[in-house]
Amino acid sequence: MRYYRYLAGILRCKIQAFAVQSSLAINADVGDFMIREILKFPDPRLREVSKSTDKVTEYHRKLAEDLIETMYASNGIGLAAPQIGELVRMLVIDTRSREEGGRRYKYEEMTELERAVQQPLIVINPVIVKGEGKTTFDEGCLSIPGYYETVERYNYIEVKALNEKGKEILIKTDGLLAICLQHEMDHLEGTLFLDHLSLIKSSKIKNQIKKHGYPKPKSEEETEDEDVQEGVKV
Ligand SMILES: [Zn+2]
Repeated sequence: MRYYRYLAGILRCKIQAFAVQSSLAINADVGDFMIREILKFPDPRLREVSKSTDKVTEYHRKLAEDLIETMYASNGIGLAAPQIGELVRMLVIDTRSREEGGRRYKYEEMTELERAVQQPLIVINPVIVKGEGKTTFDEGCLSIPGYYETVERYNYIEVKALNEKGKEILIKTDGLLAICLQHEMDHLEGTLFLDHLSLIKSSKIKNQIKKHGYPKPKSEEETEDEDVQEGVKV
């Protein structure tokens, strides 16, 4: 999932992403993480249902590292394994502020429950065991760059899952972390946020992408102006 209201530090984050990629070139052949290619809609692999994991192994820990670094390098706050072509029920999230190592704009916007969850969060075989209330948010997706639409989700969720050590965990959260978890869990079912929109709206966007591809990335100034305007909206 992409969090688009990062008003400040846009230049800085691009430099950071570049720094990560540069260090990668040095580290890539010594068995460190790899920044992977993120699949874009309409890649058919994004429509597959991912497989559960019986046993958490070194493969999963390596995959988690790749996911986390790929997410940071793309300024995302969440990424699911099928988005990099691995059909495994695994996802990673970091909704913390930049000061804490994440990519979120403001620490003050985090809820108490969100702050209580240790992040970056690595989740394997997640299942929602409780969902309460409704909330809406303008969601974006690293697999559908440049598009943001309002999606309704549970406001509070409890998710049972395995962590990277294979230990069972129960996450109780709300706020952006709950929204992001639901967005990433959809990816494990081959569902995209566009599928939550009205048929007319989603068909329009899907057809537009299939016909014209994705908009060119904007210059830094343009992005900053737009973010300032959009920041008021949410
Ligand atoms: Zn997504």
